[in-house]
Amino acid sequence: MSDRIIFWHRRDLRISDNIGLAAARQQSSKVVGVFCLDRNILDRDDIAPGRVTYMVGCLRDLQQRYREVGSQLLILQGDPTQAIPNLAAALKAKAVFWNLDVEPYSRQRDRAVTEALKQKSVATVNYWDQLLHQPGAIITKTSEEPYKVYTPFWKNWIEQPKKSPSQNLQNVKGLTEEELSAASGAGVIELPTARDLGYVWDNPLILAPGEAAAREKLEKFCDAAIREYQPQRDLPAIEGTSKLSAALKFGAIGIRTVWEAASAAYDRCLSDETRDSVTTWQKELAWREFYQHCMYFFLELAEGPYRKEFKDFPWDNNQEYFQAWCEGQTGYPIVDAAMRQLNETGWMHNRCRMIVASFLTKDLIIDWRWGEKYFMQKLVDGDLCANNGGWQWSASSGMDPKPLRIFNPASQTQKYDPEAEYIRQWLPELSSVDTEYLVTGKIPDLERHSCGYPQAIVDHKVQQNKFKQLYKTIKN
Ligand SMILES: Cc1cc2nc3c(=O)[nH]c(=O)nc-3n(C[C@H](O)[C@H](O)[C@H](O)COP(=O)(O)OP(=O)(O)OC[C@H]3O[C@@H](n4cnc5c(N)ncnc54)[C@H](O)[C@@H]3O)c2cc1C
Repeated sequence: MSDRIIFWHRRDLRISDNIGLAAARQQSSKVVGVFCLDRNILDRDDIAPGRVTYMVGCLRDLQQRYREVGSQLLILQGDPTQAIPNLAAALKAKAVFWNLDVEPYSRQRDRAVTEALKQKSVATVNYWDQLLHQPGAIITKTSEEPYKVYTPFWKNWIEQPKKSPSQNLQNVKGLTEEELSAASGAGVIELPTARDLGYVWDNPLILAPGEAAAREKLEKFCDAAIREYQPQRDLPAIEGTSKLSAALKFGAIGIRTVWEAASAAYDRCLSDETRDSVTTWQKELAWREFYQHCMYFFLELAEGPYRKEFKDFPWDNNQEYFQAWCEGQTGYPIVDAAMRQLNETGWMHNRCRMIVASFLTKDLIIDWRWGEKYFMQKLVDGDLCANNGGWQWSASSGMDPKPLRIFNPASQTQKYDPEAEYIRQWLPELSSVDTEYLVTGKIPDLERHSCGYPQAIVDHKVQQNKFKQLYKTIKN
């Protein structure tokens, strides 16, 4: 056994502010990184080409970072429960370190990898890194249970002291020639492209992959837009949000680094309004943590509706309506603009995610899981906890169903896209239609026809009443 440590990267594709990696370096100067292209994940039918492209870009960047500090990032492909222990044995590593995750699959996989490593007498060391507060750290004060409602979670979460970014990796000893040849015998490969992996994404990514790009985005956001976040975050025509979601999903940036930048922005604020804006953004980071804590404690969330009575909800599940929704052809401009933004960029503005999710579940009366899966097939930031949380919130099937949320597409447009700029951006065929028609959705039939834009596939009022009736039946 050597004093070689393997650090297994999963959703922490960076060398800076990485708790597990810094701890590995403290134990030994001989640290090598590894990433396993997990076929159990890549072969699923809810993988977005844009997401794989972003991830592979982050891995390429991470390889470069490792080279800069004197080591390597090795790439494996296959089933990690075999690939990781095989590599550890080939390198005669004394330990494999990694950062923990909350998702059910990751936890079950990690247990299997731990067991297989134990069989080979290789130690495992784990840390929490992707959250400011790990599951179990934020619990109700009276009964010491996990929270099921966001607001009390936030009040507790914001009171707790937050860690500073951890030490960056430096001065590491990479693999010797002998170790390199042992590694290649254990299945180490060249990093493939996303296309090689079967995923083609030719459109630009909303965020360039890698640590430097994420950090630059964070700094730019914290220098200006964060101070206007409160009034602008709901306006999809404006670049008012950080667009850091993919970086946070894959850990191209550390959450402590993000927190530090937001806190520094808060300290620079000169008015209550701008301070409120920073706090509102911090609340979004807390939503991210809330959904991860919920998944950790209530694994059943991943399987379907949290509320038992929703298990038999009589969804219409009309295939044609679903297709129209996916393609942005429902005849509701704000819904269609949002779906086309998703299809073209792999990202959708949060306000619009809520609008289209409400429309799918409450207007088209389609099972939210269809929408949840479609989002995962498209989103660059697609993340089980945030996506499932957002969909269950919109469908009223989750932990916090009150009030019954039904969004009216026309009033949402009048409030959040009053000049129809967002609609025109994503629905160019409607660019010459009057704003009044676009924001009310009342485009005359003749005009729809001449623009090649469809009639509304359903009537919001009728469908809303229908949903309410169905909802009553499951509540009783
Ligand atoms: C139906 C639905 C599905 C969603 N699916 C996802 C998903 O798959 N992945 C994902 O990261 N977010 C998801 N969200 C949450 C949110 O829409 C995105 O995080 C946000 O739009 C990303 O843009 P941003 O980075 O500019 O966000 P910002 O407004 O700048 O927020 C900063 C960060 O906070 C986190 N965050 C913000 N809002 C939420 C939220 N409501 N829940 C959890 N985390 C949040 C994200 O990490 C985000 O990057 C979903 C929301 C809904 C309503």
